[in-house]
Amino acid sequence: MSKKLFNAWLKISIIMTDKLPDTSPVDCPRCGKNSVDMQYVGDPDTRVGYLDVWCSSCLHGIHISRVKVPLNDNLFTFETSNEQITKRILNFKQETP
Ligand SMILES: [Zn+2]
Repeated sequence: MSKKLFNAWLKISIIMTDKLPDTSPVDCPRCGKNSVDMQYVGDPDTRVGYLDVWCSSCLHGIHISRVKVPLNDNLFTFETSNEQITKRILNFKQETP
């Protein structure tokens, strides 16, 4: 794992969160395909949770824990079933620094 790639994923996650509520896919920093998706999982009251950002083409991405969840519809709560979460968040390989 390269630090450069990890930083590229961080940058992508910032780009994606900045353009919310637009959740259209962005280009993958690893394979270049326009298939990077994201999902928040968190507490709707405290708005604290985690963010997964992944590419559905090459199945790489990052997991960012303890983020502030913005007020939008793109949120799974901790009550969301595992089945629903694994259906939505693909089993991707986490990039680490
Ligand atoms: Zn990719």
